[in-house]
Amino acid sequence: MTRRIRCFALIVIIGITVSSSVSTAQSGSPATAVGSADDADFAAFVKKATTKPEFLSPLVDHLPKKAGVPSPKDVLGYHIGTEKKLTYVADQQRYFRALEKALPGRVKTEIVGKTEEGRDVMVLYVTSEANLKNLEINRQNTRKIADPRGLTDPQVQQLIAATKPHYHISAGLHSGETNPPEAVIELAYRLAVSDEPYIKQIRDNVIVSITGATDVDGRDRYVDWYYAYKIDELYDGGENYGGPPYWGKYVFHDNNRDINYGVDSLRVHLDWYLKWAPPIWHDVHEAQTLLYTFSGQPPQNANLDPILYTELPFFATYEVNKLTSYGMPGVWHFGFVDMWSPGYLGFAAANHNGMLRMYEVFNQGGANTKKARLSGGQTTRQWYRPNPALAGEVDWSIRNSINYAQTGLLTALELTSKFPQMVVENYYKKTANAMKRGAEKPPHAFVISAGQADQAQVDRVANLLRRQAIEVHRATAEIKVKEGTFAAGSYVVKLNQPYGPLAKTLIEKQNYPDPTLTTYDDSAWSMGMANNIDIKTIEDKSILDAPAALLSADVVTAGTTTGTGAVTIIRHNGALNLITLRHRLKDVPMTGAKTSFKVGDVEFPAGSVIVESAGERVRKEIASLGLVAISVTSAPSVETVNLDVPRIAMYTTWSNTEKVGWVRLAFDRWEVPYDLIHKDHVQAGANLRSKYDVIVMPHQTNNGKSIVYEQPKLSRPLPYKKNDKFKSMGMYAQTDDVRGGMGLAGAAEFQKFIDDGGVLVTMGVASYFPADFGLAKGVDAQNTATGFYAPGPYVNAEILIPTHPTMFGYAQKTLPVRYAGGPLLQAGPPAGFEQFAGSSPDRPQVIARFTGGEAGVLSGLMRSPDQIRNRPMVVDAASGKGRVIMFANNPIYRWQTFGEHGMVFNALMFWNVMESAAAAKNAAAAK
Ligand SMILES: [Zn+2]
Repeated sequence: MTRRIRCFALIVIIGITVSSSVSTAQSGSPATAVGSADDADFAAFVKKATTKPEFLSPLVDHLPKKAGVPSPKDVLGYHIGTEKKLTYVADQQRYFRALEKALPGRVKTEIVGKTEEGRDVMVLYVTSEANLKNLEINRQNTRKIADPRGLTDPQVQQLIAATKPHYHISAGLHSGETNPPEAVIELAYRLAVSDEPYIKQIRDNVIVSITGATDVDGRDRYVDWYYAYKIDELYDGGENYGGPPYWGKYVFHDNNRDINYGVDSLRVHLDWYLKWAPPIWHDVHEAQTLLYTFSGQPPQNANLDPILYTELPFFATYEVNKLTSYGMPGVWHFGFVDMWSPGYLGFAAANHNGMLRMYEVFNQGGANTKKARLSGGQTTRQWYRPNPALAGEVDWSIRNSINYAQTGLLTALELTSKFPQMVVENYYKKTANAMKRGAEKPPHAFVISAGQADQAQVDRVANLLRRQAIEVHRATAEIKVKEGTFAAGSYVVKLNQPYGPLAKTLIEKQNYPDPTLTTYDDSAWSMGMANNIDIKTIEDKSILDAPAALLSADVVTAGTTTGTGAVTIIRHNGALNLITLRHRLKDVPMTGAKTSFKVGDVEFPAGSVIVESAGERVRKEIASLGLVAISVTSAPSVETVNLDVPRIAMYTTWSNTEKVGWVRLAFDRWEVPYDLIHKDHVQAGANLRSKYDVIVMPHQTNNGKSIVYEQPKLSRPLPYKKNDKFKSMGMYAQTDDVRGGMGLAGAAEFQKFIDDGGVLVTMGVASYFPADFGLAKGVDAQNTATGFYAPGPYVNAEILIPTHPTMFGYAQKTLPVRYAGGPLLQAGPPAGFEQFAGSSPDRPQVIARFTGGEAGVLSGLMRSPDQIRNRPMVVDAASGKGRVIMFANNPIYRWQTFGEHGMVFNALMFWNVMESAAAAKNAAAAK
């Protein structure tokens, strides 16, 4: 095609490349000038499927035809963006393979991993014949630029000149955002077949790759749900059937928050990124009016190179310029999502000296054309949004979204094709700067010293850093630096490495730059605090020459059993693997020490586990789980309790399964078996106590009421059940209607469960439930007041009853915890009722509390920290024969707060010990 954009190779002035075809677009008949080589059927389709001429662009109002190459419609049976059509991942991959088969010189597909549910994760590469032939060499070159150590300057310059920029596009991370996985199907076709000069230039100068569905399992489940229910949603108003209760196996929207890549199918994308190291990763989402292109607004992470903060607006303003010039309203940058948290999936690129790019494209979920009501700030004219979408009603089709997404992406690729060397050179410079900073400016390293309470926690941190390709060394001899002396075996993270800035970002205290700024996700994630281990910041430059060997594989320190004898005592040093030991050896009788005790001169803390007749099997598990034990000939003299293996249930609402998903992930990884139960399992007469000893209610929903009532029923039930037609439905839990909730009858069953001797463990927001509904006697839950703002900072907590089993293994008096927005608890009689408290066995015990105040904020941002001063964090509230253990923190938050997990695992392991511990405390209090 000669129409459309005329690109002149390497024109350095932005905004002059659009030919007269733009005036065609703005005249209101953008699809009239279809060339002879174009698909006339498509041109008619797109004109009809786009609800207003200005929602189409001269880049996508036509579709080239190429003999022997199937268009999406040839394979799928419909044009991309057809009303009420969403594409399953298998069909998307089928199309990509058909494209590869027809054009093997330009298109290549690769299966890069598998999801939790066993589906393939595919990446498609599209570029010129010459580039595709050279794909592996280009990959190796790109990797060398990403780690240029050992190269001379001339070699680097040669490499830059010889390397094409690799631009990666990902769609479908968020499964409810339906248009991007569709848009990239057509985009791949256009890039592969079009003879338009600007597309030829993209092919010649850029390696493009596409992840068509990032959350593959979630995409399929969402498409199932769409065809089952959402397809019936009305054009104007009526009921909204939401989305399926699960996307992927464990998490929903938080798949963009997995800072440590705990979910396997997310690690697939990280591993792919690290192998290819593309300088740009462009993640396409769906929200905002009408296309938002990310330009890196504050607060900014100062560890990221300043160059990045100039590249982002460079691209974004170009896109705003071009799309605005096409007459497309509502295209803007600046003002949505900031550069603070490193935990977004696509930030893997920015974290590794590349560039994260991000779009949000308007749609209304699904593929039904609906009336949209645009309003609010995003319909206002601003310097960064000169041509806003107008407030008011507009018909919106998924094709509109696809037009915007594709036009933006083609524009971004076009810009890259004009400045290919600049992209590669910037990538190199950011990397070189990263190494230089670590070498020249303090801090120069972090040291995670050997000899901390639980080596498994220390090893985990080293492994989590390595997972993101951060180099970790292990000291081969004692290290002496200004900051102290560290034993051989300590881990050293030197910052004069390409990913030194990422190590710094992950480990250091987050000094939030401006407390008046809000942030999109967490304000803190400091790894030492999250893992409750000590990490020292080293400013002494000699650390860079310290005797240390680079770890070449993940570290797993084996456990030890010293001594001989039939009785084995396993130290409770805070090891999370104790819970795994208990469940792996569930048939082996074990007891737990109620207090600390001595064997010879060696002190063992309370909670240490005693196995009377431990055989080889026990020793083997101790070794494999990294536990620390001794064997002796006779049992120590200490009061013990039987560690009966509890029957565990985990309670989930249907309206908010995600936070539960993280706890499911942790339980699965630590091999803690549980039944996932929901509203249907707690109806009147459920007799929960006959089935379970402990019910865990993870952080979920907004308050106690929404846990009990969830979302109201609709005029039709929405079953989530195994189904021959919609195969991904009914996984993980099933119900005849996801709406409704347990109601008061369910709450009463929980009360019976507790009174009959069960233990209810509530975390974070779920702790409103027992307080609000009277299950936790004497505990009140309140909200914070105006002025309070705390996006996930780490705060100081003080242990008040170290002898309580939930605190076993926590040797310190205070510990860092992530503030999770749980209730402000108040334990004890409310004002005016003090006379009823006395020595009541129901008197709740505060096990730990937040210290509060500015001094209590350890990392990140909390406004009005006085509001949490001395507020309970862990409460043991007895009721009848059982109890509620309430956490105002969220001890199992994402794949992240490992330092807090132990409190929950303790509650499981010592579930039948707690009564006596609290009773003893009560007795003491009554004296
Ligand atoms: Zn999204």
